[in-house]
Amino acid sequence: MCGIVGYIGYREAYPIVIKGLKRLEYRGYDSAGVMIYDGESIKLSKTKGKVADLEERASKEITTNGTIGIGHTRWATHGVPNDVNSHPHLSNSGDLVIIHNGIIENYAPLKVELIKRGYVFHSDTDTEVLVNLIEEVQKKENIKLGKAVQIALNQVVGAYAIAVFDKKNPDEIVAARLGSPLAIGIGEGEYFIASDASPFIEYTSNAVYLEDGEMAVIRLHKEMKVRKIKDDSLVNPIIQELQMNLEQIEKGGYDHFMLKEIYEQPSVIKDTYRGRLHANEGIIQMAGVEDNLEKFLNADRIIIVACGTSWHAGLVAEYIFEEFARISVEVEYASEFRYRNPIINSKDVVIAISQSGETADTMAAIKLAKEQGAFVFGVCNVVGSSISRETHAGAYTHAGPEIGVASTKAFTTQITVLTMIALRLAKAKGTLSQSDFHMYLQELELIPEKVREALETNDKAKEIAETFKDAPNCLYLGRGYNFPVALEGALKLKEISYIHAEGYPAAEMKHGPIALIDEQMPVVVIAPKQGHYDKIVSNIQEIKSRSGRIIAVVTKGDTQVRELADYVIEIPETSDALSPLITTIPLQLLSYHIAVLRGCNVDQPRNLAKSVTVE
Ligand code: GLU
Repeated sequence: MCGIVGYIGYREAYPIVIKGLKRLEYRGYDSAGVMIYDGESIKLSKTKGKVADLEERASKEITTNGTIGIGHTRWATHGVPNDVNSHPHLSNSGDLVIIHNGIIENYAPLKVELIKRGYVFHSDTDTEVLVNLIEEVQKKENIKLGKAVQIALNQVVGAYAIAVFDKKNPDEIVAARLGSPLAIGIGEGEYFIASDASPFIEYTSNAVYLEDGEMAVIRLHKEMKVRKIKDDSLVNPIIQELQMNLEQIEKGGYDHFMLKEIYEQPSVIKDTYRGRLHANEGIIQMAGVEDNLEKFLNADRIIIVACGTSWHAGLVAEYIFEEFARISVEVEYASEFRYRNPIINSKDVVIAISQSGETADTMAAIKLAKEQGAFVFGVCNVVGSSISRETHAGAYTHAGPEIGVASTKAFTTQITVLTMIALRLAKAKGTLSQSDFHMYLQELELIPEKVREALETNDKAKEIAETFKDAPNCLYLGRGYNFPVALEGALKLKEISYIHAEGYPAAEMKHGPIALIDEQMPVVVIAPKQGHYDKIVSNIQEIKSRSGRIIAVVTKGDTQVRELADYVIEIPETSDALSPLITTIPLQLLSYHIAVLRGCNVDQPRNLAKSVTVE
């Protein structure tokens, strides 16, 4: 789940690699390393810690310049984060250097075999096994790096995006991928390699995204050759034009990417529905849905597969699809779905949701569903990502790059896309009255403005955060459409502030969690006017009777809850079904401020990574 960067060309490689690693740090940040080839020798510097720590160390260790370099920011899978386990890893001869994102599952037997042949290992990583396997193949067969990588990878089980350099042939880098993303930027007389395109967008807008099972031999002043790892056959790579720009991946005056992304929601929700939603004409159109409308309409059920925040968006969608389009929906954790022999048939529509479009478990769930004949539809943010390519059709969320590890704009834009799909199906099926259909379209169009208003709760969220920043636990309660919002609110808090938090359907509280309530326990209750308002007011009474401290998210003008709650956050009114798009905003802000006040690293919370490309 790490980030990898490589450069080969005419510019000084070191600053390009370091800057690239900083942009990829969202993918992993427990250790980092860089290799520069200065025309004579390999210069290596690596350390436990962040890219900033690497920079400090490398300033002493890498003193010569070079135009070839590779770098890595790690999210450890095999071996603790320390200097030795950091990448790049060298082969025993010291000639080969590798960076790797993924897991070599059969590293143990390969390692035993290599030790028998005299190889010595310095780290605990699976990656060091791979680089020595490549060296062993190269020596035995007396072949060039590209061929040796191809043969070695055929002996490997697992997932990888790798870049390998060989001092004996210093005008090339070999890259390969299976299960982890890899983009190659193509400039004039230079190439860039990276986990996503962000490290090279200011240098070139032409990129090739390697497909699973492909490898590339990237040679200075030569055309890049792409081959299938399996049989070495040549592939004609498709060069894509990048849509990202530099401003999108910088903080733009905000203290953290997370805050910037929270504040981007009014505009990115608009981007999500732009060209798709025409409220005045009563039209919703999304190419991926239109082209496959029959599949959706004939579906016996929809199965949504996702992980983390995307799974919560899926839960909101379950309520919306069933209500609007009267299609039965199941929402599954991709990691459970893929391993539990699920019953899937050709009349099922599977919707896979993933911000990055690289989530390993979701990807595996998609493959399984396809094998069993289901139609698979992707909802992703990253254009050209693996999931967008693996699914039969899909819709992008168009949220722009999300760098903060805690998802915010991805969640609301995913819900926007899913709501539009449900509305389109409802129209085709006639399951919503004309007037309700039009009302929802109009309401959806007003959401960006209402999100903007909800962002005005920032000061209030900050004030509440001051009060509760030292709480050891926190409970989030919601009902109906806002039950998944309670789950998401709790997830946001725990992932960035490390406060233990749980989300529950409010009525379920009586079946256990109520035992936790005392005068120390903050309980965040999502209680907008629509939906099950009276019921949730009763739940608030129950908490109050047990001295819990209530923070309530209410509709503007609410008086009833105000009397009971210790703190209220007022949000603008919208329909019950669309309320998650609004109620979630103050919860994002609350988590953000608590985490900042606790001195946590908001954009890079401990133990996490943005794009979970390992299972
Ligand atoms: N398995 C490798 C390691 O633990 C790479 C992990 C990653 O993708 O960051 O070093």
